Amino acid sequence: MGLSAFSQIKEDEPISTNKMAIDRVHRVGRRIAASVGRELPHADWEFVVFESEELNAFALPGGKVGVYTGLLNLVESDDELAAVMGHEIAHVSSRHSGERVTQQMMVGAAALGAEIYMESEGVDSSSRMITRTLLGAGSQLGLLLPFSRLHETEADIIGLRFAAGAGYDPRAAATFWQKMKAASSDEGRPPEFLSTHPSPDNRIARLQELAPELMPVYREAKAKFESMEMQPVADREIGGAHQK
Ligand SMILES: [Zn+2]
Repeated sequence: MGLSAFSQIKEDEPISTNKMAIDRVHRVGRRIAASVGRELPHADWEFVVFESEELNAFALPGGKVGVYTGLLNLVESDDELAAVMGHEIAHVSSRHSGERVTQQMMVGAAALGAEIYMESEGVDSSSRMITRTLLGAGSQLGLLLPFSRLHETEADIIGLRFAAGAGYDPRAAATFWQKMKAASSDEGRPPEFLSTHPSPDNRIARLQELAPELMPVYREAKAKFESMEMQPVADREIGGAHQK
C-alpha cells in the first residue's frame, strides 16, 4: 500500500534537486533508520525531498519518507528535522494508518447499517437526514478524533525515542512545534501539517516533560554516530563485520 502510494506521489509532486536539502534529509534519515531498526523490520528505506512551499512531511508503510522544502526552511537544526521525521515514522511503526482505515470502515459500516434500518422501519426523510448528519458529526468528533489524538500522543513518545536514539536532541521536538504554531498564526491559516496534527499546546508541554529522561540516550547515541561518521567508509565496514 505504502509503496504504490509513494510511487504515485513521486510522479505527481516535483522532486527537489537541491543537493544540500537532499543531503540533509538523507543524513538525518540514515541515522533515524538505524535507530528505528527492528521496530520496522520490512522497511526498504527511501527519503525524498519534494519541492513545495508547504510545511509538510510524511511517512508511509515500508519506510518511505517525504519531506517538503517548505518544512526544511522552517526547521533550523537537524535536531528539529529529526523530531518531525521520527514522529512521522512512529505513525508507521505503530501501524496507525492501518488502524485509521479500519476506523473509517467501521464508520462506513455504521452509516450503512443505519440506512438499512431506517429503510426497513420506514423512517421519514427528515428523520433520515438528521440521523445521517449526527452519524457524520459523530464520526468526526466522537469516533475519529479521540483515536487520532491517542495516535498523536503515541507517535510523539515513540518519535522522540527514535530521534534521541539517532543522536538528535529530544528538546528540539518542543521547539519544532512552537515554530509550527507560530507559522500557523503568521500565515492566518494553519499549515497542512497542523490539520492532521492538532493541539500544539498540549503537545509542546508533553514533549518538554518527556525530553529530560531521554537526554542520556541522546548523548550516548550522538557520540556513537559521530565517531562512526568520522571513520573512513572502509573502516566502518570492517568495524561492522567485527561486531558480529
Ligand atoms: Zn502525527
